[in-house]
Amino acid sequence: MLEEWIKNANHLVVFTGAGMSTESGLPDFRSADKGLWTNEQKSYLSSTDALNHHLEDFIAFYRERVLGISEFKPNKGHFLLAEWEKRGLLKGVITQNVDGFHFLAGSKKVYELHGTLQKLHCQTCKKTYSCNEYLHEVYVCACGGTLRPSIVLFGEMLPEKPFLLAEKAAIASDVFIVLGSSLSVSPANQIPLLAKQTGSKLIIINNEETEFDYLADLLIREAIGQTLECAEAKLNSI
Ligand code: ZN
Repeated sequence: MLEEWIKNANHLVVFTGAGMSTESGLPDFRSADKGLWTNEQKSYLSSTDALNHHLEDFIAFYRERVLGISEFKPNKGHFLLAEWEKRGLLKGVITQNVDGFHFLAGSKKVYELHGTLQKLHCQTCKKTYSCNEYLHEVYVCACGGTLRPSIVLFGEMLPEKPFLLAEKAAIASDVFIVLGSSLSVSPANQIPLLAKQTGSKLIIINNEETEFDYLADLLIREAIGQTLECAEAKLNSI
């Protein structure tokens, strides 16, 4: 059924969460229990309060996270989505992930609701830099301002543009696939809800239960890469 809906879709949109990245081997930073920080500390260090009042700890924490994503790569699921976009099957990717793997895999229409760890920007003049600056231990802009990761911290609003574009994509979609998200983080989880409410078929592919399972037209509890590959193989035969 999945492959038929994909093939017949006029406007297919996907929405990805942490499960998409963990298939690359990237640990979910919230649930990973190894490392230098407790979960409580991680929550604090992901906030504007830490950026403003505990800058050294904030930078040490994000340098470690940038280092973390630099050790992993997009997986077959990411590459297949990029391929489907090239073939005109897929109209856009909405993601909660900050690792930038969809862009690295070649996807062009990606709406990063929570920003990206691949970039830094200056708190003062907003100039953007690559995250490699952190790896080279550069934490200050040419203007003297602090370089911070271009992600959404606790205490900050979601960036308006990707959110509005994601809403537009959700409304335009007729098939909407959630990949690897428990749909528990608001307001990002309102996007699949919007798709469903505006007439889209909602497909959820996730290893565990999600908040919106009861709304799904199709529920698949399997690994993402494998499920998409399987659909791809059947796409060519229908
Ligand atoms: Zn600056």
